Amino acid sequence: MKRILVTGGAGFIGSHLCERLLNEGNEVISLDNYFTGSKKNIIHLLDNPYFEIVRHDITEPYFAEVDEVYNLACPASPIHYQHDPIKTIKTSVVGATNMLGLAKRIDAKILQASTSEVYGDPKIHPQPESYWGNVNPIGLRSCYDEGKRCAESLFINYHKQNDVRIKIIRIFNTYGTRMNTNDGRVISNFIVQALKGENITIYGKGNQTRSFQYVDDLIEGMIRMMNTDDTITGPINIGNPAEFSILNLAEKIIEITNSSSKIIFEPLPEDDPMQRKPDISLAKKTLNSWEPKISLDDGLLKVIKYFESVI
Ligand code: NAD
Ligand code: UDP
Repeated sequence: MKRILVTGGAGFIGSHLCERLLNEGNEVISLDNYFTGSKKNIIHLLDNPYFEIVRHDITEPYFAEVDEVYNLACPASPIHYQHDPIKTIKTSVVGATNMLGLAKRIDAKILQASTSEVYGDPKIHPQPESYWGNVNPIGLRSCYDEGKRCAESLFINYHKQNDVRIKIIRIFNTYGTRMNTNDGRVISNFIVQALKGENITIYGKGNQTRSFQYVDDLIEGMIRMMNTDDTITGPINIGNPAEFSILNLAEKIIEITNSSSKIIFEPLPEDDPMQRKPDISLAKKTLNSWEPKISLDDGLLKVIKYFESVI
């Protein structure tokens, strides 16, 4: 049995990770400040005596004896990470420093949930890990993008300078059950709007693209990455390469939900990336032929059912 710390454990992805790690017979500590996460996401796990929850902000040091740390704490939706940009930077940079300091002190392995946002508005398509990205350092998204880029640098340098065993994954757009109805990201927005018969809000013309990964596929890739040998540090892309335009996504959701909603077009936010699609050859090679198994259609059906039950 391993003891595992999950920062951001009460968030959308964190709650799925805690559940999977507990199911595999580990002891799990969820650490969260509940900014975007919620106890509701993990309440079903509280009966498990091997699950602990801690209310804590990773911008403050934290100490526990654990074997592994998954560092997920950080708001991920643009509306949430732009709400308090300075705090977002501190969470990525000071938070990562605190968690790396902990990993160094107790000799734990530590995995960083980085993001496809490190590629910014990419000029290379699809994006391989070797691409350095195209990020506006002073734009609306920079608090998140540059925070996560700096966190990657911290991880690599704790590894090189202090031999900390690190793993970096770059997560591409992920969706699934337990996303907040007010999360603000495109899949939850469109499904909630479709189910309520409200207008579907496309920002821009809808010709920008994203590649959507179902959360179970991500969790599988994340755990395989943590279990790689110590020579593997990443960064490694984890995402589903099937690419869709946002207009295409809106039409799909209207069709599946049989909704009467109309599509409306609103201004495209500053620096919104025009295209995004992971090159996952490195993940396939490194993570025992890992690849996503759940198609967008199948994943949407699960999430639509979930939102029907919570709205
Ligand atoms: P989320 O907002 O649901 O989860 C983030 C969790 O971190 C929340 O529970 C929140 O309360 C907690 N948190 C935020 N700041 C904190 C702080 N300072 N101290 C302690 N806890 C804090 O988002 P998510 O989609 O589950 O994302 C989880 C991680 O995965 C994030 O690091 C995010 O950057 C990364 N990621 C997610 C996606 C995606 O598409 N969902 C894509 C790329 C990267
Ligand atoms: N988007 C949209 N309508 C919405 C929410 C998002 O058209 O109600 C667009 C957004 O402008 C972006 C894409 O959908 O081009 C994905 O947005 P999301 O916030 O989910 O993720 P990110 O932009 O961080 O990839």
